[in-house]
Amino acid sequence: MLKALPEYETLAEQAHGHLCAGQILGLRMALYGVNLLGMTDPAGADRKRLVTYIEIDRCATDAIPIVTGCRLGKRALKFRDFGKVAATFCDLHEGRAVRLVARDDAKARAQELYPEIRNKNQQQMRAYRELSDEDLFESRWVRVAIGPEDLPGYKAARVECAQCGESIHFKREVIRDGRVLCRACAGERYYEPL
Ligand SMILES: [Zn+2]
Ligand SMILES: [Zn+2]
Repeated sequence: MLKALPEYETLAEQAHGHLCAGQILGLRMALYGVNLLGMTDPAGADRKRLVTYIEIDRCATDAIPIVTGCRLGKRALKFRDFGKVAATFCDLHEGRAVRLVARDDAKARAQELYPEIRNKNQQQMRAYRELSDEDLFESRWVRVAIGPEDLPGYKAARVECAQCGESIHFKREVIRDGRVLCRACAGERYYEPL
């Protein structure tokens, strides 16, 4: 079942290495997302229902799995590097999804609420615990088409890249001039072999 925010804060601090405003924001974001979807036990009974897309790799990102249970290695956490403090929570059973974006003015609200707290991180942590969901986030219902190859539990034979010979899972191969290539050999390589 869902826990109270302070309990999640303890878990987030352990997982992330420190407690910060980003952790509070990420926890609040995930709680709001699962609440809008009507899920009461995302990391337990509902764990096969939820897939989360996250659009930034920052402090808040680490807090999302604490509430949702969605992890990269379970294929239930999807990273789209859009550089936005935003996440989309998808309910696979109901076929619906809600996208939340952190409001840029939340920092200004924190400053208004607690001008006496000089430390910005402390100021924001306090405010992010107390502000309403609507003050912290914009929400919008969206449609997310998740292909079967992107779902947790997908099974298919791996294929071999015709160029480097490495194995490719989950249909990530591309066909170029009739050859089966991995995405690296097809031009998306982020490293140069030495
Ligand atoms: Zn942090
Ligand atoms: Zn290859």
